[in-house]
Amino acid sequence: MLVLSAGLTDNGTGSDKATGMGELTCPGCGKQLDPQHHGELVCDGQVWCDACRLYDRRLLLPRPFADIVAWGQRLCAAFGLDPVEFQEAEPFPEDPNPYPHALKLLMAEAHHRDRIIVFFPPGLRLATLCHELAHLATGQDHTAGWARMFAEMTAWVKERLPEDTISRGIKVNLLGNQD
Ligand SMILES: [Zn+2]
Ligand SMILES: [Zn+2]
Repeated sequence: MLVLSAGLTDNGTGSDKATGMGELTCPGCGKQLDPQHHGELVCDGQVWCDACRLYDRRLLLPRPFADIVAWGQRLCAAFGLDPVEFQEAEPFPEDPNPYPHALKLLMAEAHHRDRIIVFFPPGLRLATLCHELAHLATGQDHTAGWARMFAEMTAWVKERLPEDTISRGIKVNLLGNQD
């Protein structure tokens, strides 16, 4: 499950609880990074802190579901993953109690056993795709290994995306970081 917070936050559906503390250090400033607090990470080639790096705008732009699926299939082929099924969630109900706020911010969820990724409307972005695919690729929750895989996938996508006319990255932090 992925809830929008600093762009990319979720609860995951894996059971791996490795903390990864100490295994990840920002290459920009040397700060120790905790992948459990992945809203503070920027997984782009390497795993950076959010003070040193911003996600490329092209990774955060909303895209049609068909584009997300096409990129997902290319990533699976490039990274040698078993096929993954991509699904688009129904639009949110008008009054999605009991967690209306959380539901509105739900982005995607990966079902490890069935290899299905369900995208909610706010999650139709390449960064979300890479986040979830990295869970399936590693079989891990928010670990250092997952973060590195996520970073490799975003780098792969960026190399193949058309250039952005706006070169600056943007920062998405709608909820603040969840400590
Ligand atoms: Zn996740
Ligand atoms: Zn840093």
